[in-house]
Amino acid sequence: MDIEQFRKAGYQAIDRICDYYYSLQGRAVTSQVEPGYLRKALPALAPTSGEDFQEIADDYQKLIIPGLTHWQHPSFFAYFPTACTFEGMLGDLYASSACNPGFNWSCSPACTELEAVVMDWAAQLIGLHSTFLNTSEVGGGVMQTSASDSALTAVVAARSRYIRENPNARMEDLVLYTTTQTHSLGLKAGLVLGLACRALEVTAENSFGLRGDTLRAALEEDIAAGKKPFILIATVGTTSSGAFDYIEELGRVASDYASLWLHVDGAWAGVSMACPEFREICHLEAINRYADSFCTNFHKWGLTNFDASTLWVRDRKDLTDALDVTPEFLRTKHGDAGTVIDYRNWHLGLGRRFRSLKLWFVLRSYGVEGFQKYIRQSVQLNETFVSMIRSSPQFTLVAPPSLALTVFRLEPQTTKQPLSAELLNNLNRLFYGRISARNDILLTQTVLNGTFCIRFAIGAARTTEEHIKQAFDILSAEAELTLKHWEEPA
Ligand SMILES: *Cc1c(COP(=O)(O)O)cnc(C)c1O
Repeated sequence: MDIEQFRKAGYQAIDRICDYYYSLQGRAVTSQVEPGYLRKALPALAPTSGEDFQEIADDYQKLIIPGLTHWQHPSFFAYFPTACTFEGMLGDLYASSACNPGFNWSCSPACTELEAVVMDWAAQLIGLHSTFLNTSEVGGGVMQTSASDSALTAVVAARSRYIRENPNARMEDLVLYTTTQTHSLGLKAGLVLGLACRALEVTAENSFGLRGDTLRAALEEDIAAGKKPFILIATVGTTSSGAFDYIEELGRVASDYASLWLHVDGAWAGVSMACPEFREICHLEAINRYADSFCTNFHKWGLTNFDASTLWVRDRKDLTDALDVTPEFLRTKHGDAGTVIDYRNWHLGLGRRFRSLKLWFVLRSYGVEGFQKYIRQSVQLNETFVSMIRSSPQFTLVAPPSLALTVFRLEPQTTKQPLSAELLNNLNRLFYGRISARNDILLTQTVLNGTFCIRFAIGAARTTEEHIKQAFDILSAEAELTLKHWEEPA
């Protein structure tokens, strides 16, 4: 493809993407294909001679789009929606045109310098303390692929700091702490690094958030047994129920154990701190006081196309001490002089995508006010949904509504006698089975300390009040049908 052919194909691609977005609302949310559909449709080998690009572009429409789940569909309420924007897409397009692995400052100064600036914008947007800013030259921020990478990077840095401070500690005695509600990124980090991971219990009474006393008891027990606690991964806004660990309490406990690193995972909820009114619920003050590292994902609720996970550390030397490997061929004048950031020493890989470009586009195009407006709108939509759930005789909330997430379940008040926990779980599995068989709406299930329940997550950029009402009507109708087909045990 030459430049002029690219121009033509590019115009067509944008046209088709616009048509796709116009058509979204009328599409099913979920893909209707069967496993293996694509292998059947494609040849087993790449073509021997090159094909016409028009045919290739047409096959995207014909073969790929039917296999997409439409995450940007306004009735997508599953997982956590990924609110992408055209600004983000254009940022990605330009980044891809510069096609730059950006591992050193000198690879393309703009890549490093824009990231350093935009990470400071983002830090201030959500109210992080100035120690986390790149301008502090002590702490700093770096973009990662995902919250899992951010956490893994924090664990690697924490381990390295622990070993530096406790040179006689044996690797097999190290313990990483999470809770039973922590995203699987905690277990994954333990698995990858071969480190023990202890998931602390949380209760419904504490709204599934970890308390300081629970942490202290576990630390004391493990230290008495010769173990070496080195990091706690705490969460503000858990994936299952949007729960908040008690960061202030945890921070105070952590301060009594000098070598214990506190990583706060705010992958989903963190961006809501752009609105001052959500900072308290997200424990911003405690994060600023105690966290060694903090992560949020702009690729979830932050209007920026995947991938855009942002990680801040209180002391950048913890990252570079753990990750700086500089063979001769990577040495540069500025790197040696220490006058620039070489981001390769701030994450696990060497090369990296030019991710800051899309976040820059988004933050400039929306402005702080536009960004806040969008977050508030999602929270308001959730309030609408919650009031419908509360006034319904069929449903109950299983956990307190959290920002733009509601966890609920079917709990009919019309049964002859109160249902056992097991019967209620079975009933809700049937109910969820009916919902997930539909293709005009998508929700996901979860289990909270043994209670099977359903998550309703708002955040897709095109969702309006009308879609929330529609969703509630669908849920009510399916609840009726579930009960109609269900035989209440005598
Ligand atoms: C979604 C989520 C993650 C995982 O995010 P990735 O970027 O896909 O790794 C981690 N933690 C929480 C709380 C999440 O909601």
